Amino acid sequence: MPRPISSSPISSSPISSSPIISSSPNSSSPSSGGSLSSSPAAGGSAASSQGSGSAVSGSHASSGRPSSIEPVDVLLIDDRAEDLLTLSHVLAGPEYRLQTARSGPEALKRLLEQDFALILLDVFMPVIDGFELASLIKQRERSQSTPIIFMTAAGSELSQIYRGYSLGAVEYLSKPVDPDVLRAKVRIFADLFRKDQRLERQAEALRQSERRERDVLLTELRHSAERRYLHLAEAVPLSVWTADSQGNLTYTNRYWNTYTGLPLAELRDRSWLEAVDPADRHACAEAWREAIATGQAYERECRLRRASDGASRWHLSRAVPERNESGQLQGWLGTHADIEEAKRAIFARDEFLSIASHELRTPLTALKLRLQSALHAGDLPEKARHRMESAVLQTERLERLIENLLDVSRITTGHLDLESELFDLAEMAQDVTERFREQAARGGTSVELNAPAPVVGRWDRLRLEQVATNLLSNALKFGGGRPIGVAVQGDQAHATLTVTDRGIGIAPENVARIFHQFERVVGHRTFGGLGMGLYIARQIVQAHGGSVEVESASGQGSRFHVILPLNPARA
Ligand code: ADP
Repeated sequence: MPRPISSSPISSSPISSSPIISSSPNSSSPSSGGSLSSSPAAGGSAASSQGSGSAVSGSHASSGRPSSIEPVDVLLIDDRAEDLLTLSHVLAGPEYRLQTARSGPEALKRLLEQDFALILLDVFMPVIDGFELASLIKQRERSQSTPIIFMTAAGSELSQIYRGYSLGAVEYLSKPVDPDVLRAKVRIFADLFRKDQRLERQAEALRQSERRERDVLLTELRHSAERRYLHLAEAVPLSVWTADSQGNLTYTNRYWNTYTGLPLAELRDRSWLEAVDPADRHACAEAWREAIATGQAYERECRLRRASDGASRWHLSRAVPERNESGQLQGWLGTHADIEEAKRAIFARDEFLSIASHELRTPLTALKLRLQSALHAGDLPEKARHRMESAVLQTERLERLIENLLDVSRITTGHLDLESELFDLAEMAQDVTERFREQAARGGTSVELNAPAPVVGRWDRLRLEQVATNLLSNALKFGGGRPIGVAVQGDQAHATLTVTDRGIGIAPENVARIFHQFERVVGHRTFGGLGMGLYIARQIVQAHGGSVEVESASGQGSRFHVILPLNPARA
């Protein structure tokens, strides 16, 4: 360990009189020649730092280390210009970019401008001394881990040295500093800094390459997903297209191209509506315009012209909006499924039902008349009379079922005609309720009517009786043997008939379904019925300009409301 020559006391005029660099010949490094003399007037750019802090990048090849080495930034802080000059001189070389500061504030300014690998800090300085400055440096997050080497006059008190260490000093050098020792220490920290940087660069390179790999993988995944969707779209036996947010086509699949004879090249910037039969086009265009304006899904039945034979076939057309992550409309995905065969099957079924119910009604009416006249002849033994009465009841049930089937075909062909008259809905509800009392009592339950005031309106009485009858028979059938309530009330414009039961109830997902043709929720083995009643009831009420609403939940019973305008415009 080279020994510093000067050892001036720090008590009086602490540093000013002590040379910063020891002049021991031992301390001279072979590569630095005579530059380690205490003469501060050594040449090189260090001389220009006199009087003010500045960058010093010495060309002095003092270290003898390869010049390809990456220079690191070192901050030298000392209030004495000549000491700074000397330090700069000792450390001059390609390994370091030296910056100097002659006061605490100036040093802080430098630290704001850039980061340093190492700070050499003179302890005794006016304004802010080295200790205060070190504590400020350590408070800042960016410079928190920058190593600091304190320099002070030899013979400093131990307590001061401890204070320096407690403030995060990593080294303590006594002035005059031995040039070799100084260079060796600075080199160690510079090397550490370079290693850190190298590691950080390697980590960053690794992160970047991982990011690149992930991007490549994602792009590949996206492409393969797109390819799969494309293959899927080409393989499915229905028309598929995509459009931009304005509805202009951007893709049509093979099925569409063949069916319509209108491939994308011909349709570019035009809509799929080009393929719609002119008879349906206007209504479809309106609905499609509305969908584009609101961004809501489109669904409609329409006829599409087939290129091969010019036939117009029924299709179910759907278009769903495609949105980006922030919910913005990006485009549309559309499909047209050919439902011509299904339509024909439904038409054939309805036609068959209509013919069958007419055909069944004629012999049934004759049978019922025969039974009734035999019953009224009056000379039947008791047992035979009972059987005859039960046979009449069964023919009446059959008649009702056939009437329902006829109603379904009347509705599907648009022939449900209403014969309106002025009557009191409360009174009608009372009649129907009376008819059910006996049946309810047989089932061990009761029907309560709450219709305190007349509610008069113009409706088709027989049809509304049919609605009330249906709701009441359902309430009895599904009411679990518990009491049933019927209520009628009215206001200035509407009448409401409500039927309430406390039976099995209807699950929310089935509520909409029960109003459709032939839809039933519970198994037909448990409860009989063809699933026509509510469909017919709603059609009748809608034909009056009203609506049927239901409140229900599984196991909680059901409440059906029939809401009717007092003077239906359509009746
Ligand atoms: P159905 O002849 O089968 O009763 P409806 O059209 O009258 O035909 O009713 C359709 C279905 O709705 C019924 O099968 C039943 O599942 C359900 N439903 C109707 N009313 C009620 C009710 N009050 N409580 C529970 N389920 C009901």
